[in-house]
Amino acid sequence: MQYLSTHGGVEPIGFSAAVMMGLGTDGGLLLPATVPQVSPYALRDWSDLSFRDLAVELMLPFVGDAIPRADLVDLIGRSYATFSHQEVTPLVRVGEQWVLELFHGPTAAFKDVALQFLGNVFEYLLARDGGQLNILGATSGDTGSAAIAGVHGKDRIRIFILHPAGRISPIQERQMTTVLDANVHNIAIRGTFDDGQRIVKSLFNDLDFKQQYHLGAINSINWARILAQIVYYFYAWGRMSRGDPGFRISFAVPTGNFGDIFAGYLAKRMGLPIDRLLIATNRNDILTRFVTGGPYAVGAVHPTLSPAMDIQIASNFERYLYFLVGEDPAAVRALLAELDRTGCMQVTAEQRAAVAGDFDAAAISDAQILDQIRETYGRDGYILDPHTAVGVQAARNRADMVCLATAHPAKFKDAVQRAIGIQAPPPPCLRGLLEKETRCVFLDATEEAVRGHIRSTLSAPAIGRERGCT
Ligand SMILES: *Cc1c(COP(=O)(O)O)cnc(C)c1O
Repeated sequence: MQYLSTHGGVEPIGFSAAVMMGLGTDGGLLLPATVPQVSPYALRDWSDLSFRDLAVELMLPFVGDAIPRADLVDLIGRSYATFSHQEVTPLVRVGEQWVLELFHGPTAAFKDVALQFLGNVFEYLLARDGGQLNILGATSGDTGSAAIAGVHGKDRIRIFILHPAGRISPIQERQMTTVLDANVHNIAIRGTFDDGQRIVKSLFNDLDFKQQYHLGAINSINWARILAQIVYYFYAWGRMSRGDPGFRISFAVPTGNFGDIFAGYLAKRMGLPIDRLLIATNRNDILTRFVTGGPYAVGAVHPTLSPAMDIQIASNFERYLYFLVGEDPAAVRALLAELDRTGCMQVTAEQRAAVAGDFDAAAISDAQILDQIRETYGRDGYILDPHTAVGVQAARNRADMVCLATAHPAKFKDAVQRAIGIQAPPPPCLRGLLEKETRCVFLDATEEAVRGHIRSTLSAPAIGRERGCT
């Protein structure tokens, strides 16, 4: 399988190179040159496979000869052995809807599904081809902990994660700083999340520094993350259809960076009989406005009860755009340039009709999130996290939708407490976090401070103990 860039400036590359490249060297996002097709016969045959076995079948054509089947089986097995539910992503009935629980991984959020896999793929490719990788990222919460959980203790990989000191929830902070493996470097910066992002961005722009220190990103644009997320769409179909190829399924997807819902879109392109894909956004509703006929216009980011979806520029949307304009990189570049110049992007009437055919969308307010958590708990005794509640609320008045549950409710206990006056019992991975030992350094929110820290850490022969993060 060959991979191309949405900007058209990357020569076709294989799976290994695409994963190691992350963002295309031309600034575009990488996509498979052709989308493998799953026949109705394969759908039927695979409908009772376990999550792991299904993942092997679905991923093989994308991986091509980059990873032999036996190695892929092993790698996938290890990636999902860290999940606390034997089904990995169980499907449960909640009232009129189905809830696909994606939060049984080591950090209790759906990003584990992709990042447990990506961490193992990185380790496998580095061991085989040589080299090392120093992951650098800034987090406002969920992504950082899932990324750390994906690579801690792995050979040839180190990870540096910046978080704004004192500005993320105590649970999220401890999920990162209690990981004591020598290859994990938590940096609390005296500043905001935006400061962290700005620092990381400018360090990546320093190409000499990036190359010398083998810096890489682990954000949602890595192709392997999308690949891992395709699997649970097929898995849910298998559980519900019992192998009937005529069975059509619909999903409601809480959306931020468009990664999760794009995986659903690809599943449909691969031949999964998906009826509707519902984009559920919070008050940051740029995608909903676009899908329901408005312009794609960037506004200010508003903080909400579902913070992992407080995003205006949905980076993975560009992958969809590529298909929307007929796989034409020049057209993608033109639209992005227009967006850059004017803050707004216009598509043709024909493209708009295609968007409406591909997706439904709804934007959900904080008040509606709280109402939904209350209603579902009162009626079904099931506690939704505020992100999942966005999807369930958006799916209202439609029966039998599969609502993707993207976080465990114990992770967002303040919102849950506000809605129903109690907290969800924490899963094992969230218990006792406040009593555990931590490791973290504090730095000023400047590029120089972070650059100096990375440099001295990577030049040091051994890793010393850094001071506690309290
Ligand atoms: C990241 C995240 C989302 C949004 O997923 P995207 O792929 O960015 O659309 C939704 N819910 C939770 C809990 C998340 O962590």
